[in-house]
Amino acid sequence: MFALEALDGEEDLRWREQARCADGLGSLTELFFSEQLDDIARAKAFCAECPVTALCLAGALARREPWGVWGGQLVWKGRVLAQKRRRGRPPLPRDPITGEIVRDPVRIAQLRVQAQREAEQELEFVAKSA
Ligand code: SF4
Repeated sequence: MFALEALDGEEDLRWREQARCADGLGSLTELFFSEQLDDIARAKAFCAECPVTALCLAGALARREPWGVWGGQLVWKGRVLAQKRRRGRPPLPRDPITGEIVRDPVRIAQLRVQAQREAEQELEFVAKSA
Protein backbone atom coordinates (compact mmCIF):
# COMPACT_ATOMS: atom_id res chain seq x y z
CA MET A 1 0.00 0.00 0.00
CA PHE A 2 1.35 3.32 -1.05
CA ALA A 3 0.75 5.10 2.25
CA LEU A 4 3.75 3.52 3.95
CA GLU A 5 7.32 4.59 3.34
CA ALA A 6 10.39 2.50 2.66
CA LEU A 7 12.21 1.50 5.80
CA ASP A 8 15.72 2.08 4.57
CA GLY A 9 15.09 5.33 2.76
CA GLU A 10 17.20 4.14 -0.18
CA GLU A 11 14.43 2.80 -2.37
CA ASP A 12 13.63 4.95 -5.40
CA LEU A 13 10.08 5.96 -4.66
CA ARG A 14 9.38 8.13 -7.71
CA TRP A 15 7.04 5.47 -9.05
CA ARG A 16 4.64 6.30 -6.25
CA GLU A 17 3.57 9.42 -8.08
CA GLN A 18 1.69 7.05 -10.38
CA ALA A 19 0.26 4.91 -7.59
CA ARG A 20 -3.46 4.48 -8.09
CA CYS A 21 -4.08 4.31 -4.35
CA ALA A 22 -2.28 7.58 -3.60
CA ASP A 23 -5.12 9.94 -2.85
CA GLY A 24 -3.13 11.87 -0.26
CA LEU A 25 -5.69 11.05 2.39
CA GLY A 26 -4.93 7.43 3.16
CA SER A 27 -8.59 6.69 2.58
CA LEU A 28 -7.84 3.19 1.28
CA THR A 29 -5.60 2.16 4.15
CA GLU A 30 -8.26 0.09 5.92
CA LEU A 31 -9.08 -1.73 2.71
CA PHE A 32 -5.46 -2.59 1.95
CA PHE A 33 -4.74 -3.79 5.48
CA SER A 34 -8.02 -5.57 6.12
CA GLU A 35 -8.15 -9.21 7.11
CA GLN A 36 -11.54 -9.66 5.48
CA LEU A 37 -11.41 -11.82 2.38
CA ASP A 38 -13.81 -9.60 0.46
CA ASP A 39 -11.74 -6.51 1.27
CA ILE A 40 -8.55 -8.26 0.22
CA ALA A 41 -10.18 -9.23 -3.08
CA ARG A 42 -11.32 -5.63 -3.60
CA ALA A 43 -7.84 -4.30 -2.85
CA LYS A 44 -6.29 -6.76 -5.30
CA ALA A 45 -8.81 -5.76 -7.96
CA PHE A 46 -7.98 -2.11 -7.32
CA CYS A 47 -4.26 -2.82 -7.79
CA ALA A 48 -4.95 -4.69 -11.01
CA GLU A 49 -5.59 -1.35 -12.71
CA CYS A 50 -2.58 0.39 -11.20
CA PRO A 51 0.30 1.22 -13.59
CA VAL A 52 3.02 0.53 -11.03
CA THR A 53 1.98 -2.86 -9.70
CA ALA A 54 5.32 -4.58 -10.31
CA LEU A 55 7.37 -1.83 -8.66
CA CYS A 56 5.00 -1.68 -5.72
CA LEU A 57 5.22 -5.41 -5.11
CA ALA A 58 8.99 -5.49 -5.56
CA GLY A 59 9.38 -2.71 -3.01
CA ALA A 60 7.09 -4.39 -0.51
CA LEU A 61 9.03 -7.64 -0.75
CA ALA A 62 12.36 -5.84 -0.48
CA ARG A 63 11.20 -4.05 2.66
CA ARG A 64 9.71 -7.25 4.00
CA GLU A 65 6.37 -5.60 4.59
CA PRO A 66 4.61 -7.31 7.49
CA TRP A 67 1.11 -7.26 6.06
CA GLY A 68 -1.22 -5.85 3.46
CA VAL A 69 -2.08 -5.87 -0.19
CA TRP A 70 0.84 -4.58 -2.20
CA GLY A 71 1.19 -4.68 -5.96
CA GLY A 72 -1.96 -6.72 -6.26
CA GLN A 73 -0.75 -9.44 -3.90
CA LEU A 74 -1.42 -10.21 -0.27
CA VAL A 75 1.90 -9.90 1.56
CA TRP A 76 2.69 -11.38 4.94
CA LYS A 77 6.08 -10.86 6.56
CA GLY A 78 7.70 -10.02 3.27
CA ARG A 79 6.28 -12.92 1.32
CA VAL A 80 3.43 -13.23 -1.11
CA LEU A 81 0.59 -15.31 0.21
CA ALA A 82 -1.12 -17.17 -2.60
CA GLN A 83 -4.43 -16.92 -0.80
CA LYS A 84 -5.42 -15.80 2.65
CA ARG A 85 -6.60 -18.65 4.81
CA ARG A 86 -10.32 -18.87 5.18
CA ARG A 87 -11.74 -18.23 8.60
CA GLY A 88 -11.71 -21.24 10.84
CA ARG A 89 -9.24 -23.15 12.84
CA PRO A 90 -5.76 -21.71 12.41
CA PRO A 91 -2.82 -24.05 11.79
CA LEU A 92 -0.76 -25.25 14.73
CA PRO A 93 2.29 -23.03 15.15
CA ARG A 94 5.87 -24.25 14.97
CA ASP A 95 8.42 -23.77 17.67
CA PRO A 96 10.62 -20.88 16.51
CA ILE A 97 13.77 -22.69 17.64
CA THR A 98 13.19 -26.35 16.85
CA GLY A 99 10.72 -25.89 14.00
CA GLU A 100 8.55 -28.66 15.43
CA ILE A 101 4.77 -28.34 15.56
CA VAL A 102 3.66 -27.13 18.98
CA ARG A 103 0.70 -29.02 20.47
CA ASP A 104 0.72 -27.71 24.04
CA PRO A 105 -2.26 -25.29 24.29
CA VAL A 106 -0.50 -22.94 26.70
CA ARG A 107 2.58 -22.73 24.48
CA ILE A 108 0.38 -22.25 21.41
CA ALA A 109 -1.36 -19.33 23.10
CA GLN A 110 2.00 -17.83 24.07
CA LEU A 111 3.32 -18.10 20.52
CA ARG A 112 0.18 -16.57 19.03
CA VAL A 113 0.29 -13.63 21.45
CA GLN A 114 3.98 -13.17 20.69
CA ALA A 115 3.36 -13.27 16.93
CA GLN A 116 0.51 -10.78 17.26
CA ARG A 117 2.70 -8.42 19.28
CA GLU A 118 5.51 -8.67 16.74
CA ALA A 119 3.13 -7.95 13.88
CA GLU A 120 1.69 -4.94 15.74
CA GLN A 121 5.17 -3.64 16.53
CA GLU A 122 6.22 -4.01 12.90
CA LEU A 123 3.12 -2.16 11.70
CA GLU A 124 3.68 0.55 14.32
CA PHE A 125 7.28 0.94 13.28
CA VAL A 126 6.40 1.12 9.60
CA ALA A 127 3.61 3.63 10.27
CA LYS A 128 5.98 5.85 12.29
CA SER A 129 8.50 5.72 9.45
CA ALA A 130 5.89 7.06 7.04
S1 SF4 B 1 -0.22 -1.68 -6.89
FE1 SF4 B 1 -1.90 -1.32 -5.46
S2 SF4 B 1 -0.95 -0.85 -3.49
FE2 SF4 B 1 0.63 -0.65 -5.07
S3 SF4 B 1 0.61 1.50 -5.64
FE3 SF4 B 1 -0.76 0.46 -7.06
S4 SF4 B 1 -2.81 0.60 -6.16
FE4 SF4 B 1 -1.32 1.09 -4.54
